[in-house]
Amino acid sequence: MKVVSDIAQLQHHLASFDKEQIALVPTMGCLHEGHVSLIQKAKRLADIVVVSIYVNPLQFGANEDLDNYPKPLEQDLSVCEAEGVDFVFTPEQLYPESGIQVGLHVNDLSQTLCGVSRPHHFDGVVTVVNILFNIVRPHLAIFGEKDFQQLTIIQRMVSDLHMGIEVIGAETIRETDGLAKSSRNRYLNDDERTQAAEIYQSMLLMQNQAKQTSDMQQVIQAGETYLAQHGITTDYLSINDETTLQTLSVWDKQQPARIFIAAQIGKARLIDNMPLSSTNEEK
Ligand code: AMP
Repeated sequence: MKVVSDIAQLQHHLASFDKEQIALVPTMGCLHEGHVSLIQKAKRLADIVVVSIYVNPLQFGANEDLDNYPKPLEQDLSVCEAEGVDFVFTPEQLYPESGIQVGLHVNDLSQTLCGVSRPHHFDGVVTVVNILFNIVRPHLAIFGEKDFQQLTIIQRMVSDLHMGIEVIGAETIRETDGLAKSSRNRYLNDDERTQAAEIYQSMLLMQNQAKQTSDMQQVIQAGETYLAQHGITTDYLSINDETTLQTLSVWDKQQPARIFIAAQIGKARLIDNMPLSSTNEEK
């Protein structure tokens, strides 16, 4: 495994692969089993796996956790080594020192869910992913369904801009009590950690409710009530179309739709989602 922080050096290494399929797994480090599942999927689908580790300042808002974001690099490198990663790309900076002048912008897909309380977040995400794609020039890239809005936006970026890269989603990896694995879970104390698992339980409850009604307000109300009983107030709790990410008030049981939740628990802002359709249930 090669650990490379220099862009030209990485490109030099990658230029020697002519026929091989290259997969990119972009991350912000602090790797856990969720990231590992993405790496394993990349290994199954491609010959060469590149994992990037870069905490992207452009996607953090002014009062968010950029400065405190954990950076256990040695541990991350051991994880990558154990998974048989070929290259770990650890750039110190991906933007010009004078600041980036040209970036990408997301329209309606970022006007909902996380984009409402994080107004510049997805512009920062697509800009950095575009830069990483330009540097690595992968055939395919793997992103987690854990960040479903991000996955949808990146799939749309690749299609709108004819980038010719296959963007593949990977299912959410959870703790045994259902909490989605996340680098931010380490901000939780014991009580908050127990409370956080109720997010998953509320989604199961809503999935069940949705079998009995097409009125999504009723389903959301049941979820909000359950979460409130466990002391959780949501930033949003919404049921949205999987492709347009538009909010659904009525669900016809045919169109692919998901439950989306964001909630602040202690110092951690947690997000999660789950398909609504029983034909598309979590594996
Ligand atoms: P991050 O390091 O948080 O930017 O995440 C890097 C990638 O890992 C993104 O594509 C995430 O969606 C994905 N990811 C994060 N947590 C999970 C999880 N629990 N299960 C599957 N993928 C995940």
